[in-house]
Amino acid sequence: MQDKFDELRKRYEEVAALGAAGSLLGWDQNVFMPPGGAAARGKVQSVVSEVAHLKFTAPETGALITEVYDWAQAKGQESFEAAFLRAVKRDYDHEVKLPSALVKEFSLATTASFEAWHKAKQASDYSIFAPHLDKVLELSRLKAEALGYAKSPYDALLDMYDPGLNREKLDKVFAELAAGLTPVIKAINERADRVSNEPFKGDFDLPAQLRLSEDILKAMGYDFSRGRLDQSAHPFSTGIVAPHDARITTWTQRDWLPASVYGSMHEGGHALYEQGFPAEFAFTPLASGASLGVHESQSRFWENLIGRSRPFAAWALPLYRKHFPGKFDKYSAEDLYRAANRSEASLVRTEADEVTYNLHVALRYEIETRLLDGSLKVKDAPEFWNAKMQEYLGVKPTKDSEGILQDVHWGFGMIGYFPSYTIGNLISAQLFAALKKDLPDLDARIEHGDFAPVLAWLRRTIHAKGRTLLPEDLLQEAIGEKLSVAPFVDYIKTKYSGLYGF
Ligand code: MG
Repeated sequence: MQDKFDELRKRYEEVAALGAAGSLLGWDQNVFMPPGGAAARGKVQSVVSEVAHLKFTAPETGALITEVYDWAQAKGQESFEAAFLRAVKRDYDHEVKLPSALVKEFSLATTASFEAWHKAKQASDYSIFAPHLDKVLELSRLKAEALGYAKSPYDALLDMYDPGLNREKLDKVFAELAAGLTPVIKAINERADRVSNEPFKGDFDLPAQLRLSEDILKAMGYDFSRGRLDQSAHPFSTGIVAPHDARITTWTQRDWLPASVYGSMHEGGHALYEQGFPAEFAFTPLASGASLGVHESQSRFWENLIGRSRPFAAWALPLYRKHFPGKFDKYSAEDLYRAANRSEASLVRTEADEVTYNLHVALRYEIETRLLDGSLKVKDAPEFWNAKMQEYLGVKPTKDSEGILQDVHWGFGMIGYFPSYTIGNLISAQLFAALKKDLPDLDARIEHGDFAPVLAWLRRTIHAKGRTLLPEDLLQEAIGEKLSVAPFVDYIKTKYSGLYGF
């Protein structure tokens, strides 16, 4: 049976290598490709992904999985072979359940709807996008039926991004978050001028911003011999062949330093996860995050829990002074800490701070679940959006481009994706609370830029597991907890009541 397993593994290696080629093409597209190459690149990428898809979904793959599955499980739940088979079977079942005609129609519809979204956003005219959103929803319902679900069609879509999560659990999560955070947001809104972000405004040399990011990433433990930092229109990270090559990008804004610093730390957190998979997982389905939510927990952990902490500001101040001579002389570490944590309810999710961010997600969750089950009509969605913004954040868009049209996700057909942002935030707070217990001198370590024990802890509890476990089992094994909202809300309340004095 070992020979059959080896055959399956070799087959998967080829699929993974094609996936890596696709990732590299995508990375290049966003970092170096001349604009004139866009259309041709799209063609190359679609050929590569089609070849990978055909290879993976070939009946031979399915036959091998069926043949070796029990043999692999008999080696023990925790064995490499058992984990490999669980992951590969999950992916295979998922891909073959979707009829190729539906996949094709979905791809055509989302290409058109992405274009329509883009136009609609520019013109701030929802009516351009609405019929496309209708179509995306209709096809998403068909997708959910093909994939199957226990209770709600939404669960089937969610499962693609965050296995094990469902609408029932998320309804509770978002209700608890809204109840916990709305009073905090109100209290902050009433004291808006108490925290200033002045230190981060000004004129910051762009190359110096990148050198600062590099210093921070090196201190975090990001391995530049297996990664690199470049610039792109939006920051991203991509594990081209994890753990051997995991790259990140950031962006720079001359007049606003946090864009590059926190963009780098966020993507650095994602890339540390990818660099932390065991080498034997390379070219297997185990060299991957347990879910999008767990992946996001790693980025948020470094960006917010570490990067916006008081001891981090104390460590970082000399670095800021080194890279921007004279600019930070008059500021203290406390000034830097406060500047990194100014909170303000705003209209745009991608600019939201850690207090308000999850309510941006909550309203998207409420809208997409209702749109999918038909209890909200596409034409009524903008009004619903605006009312919810008012309710949760106390602000209201005056035009749809800064309201319902701001995000690309629905245009791309990504229904069920948004919650993973919030799941990531929740898990990051749970992990941080657990780490503090295991490492009582955590603050002192951060203050000295000694992040090695932090990374070692994440490596051991999360990174080394790759995708061997489902997210809830991973969390249970790592810290003995289920997903929960309270540690995040406690963290926010403690931190921001201190900052704003309420
Ligand atoms: Mg992220």
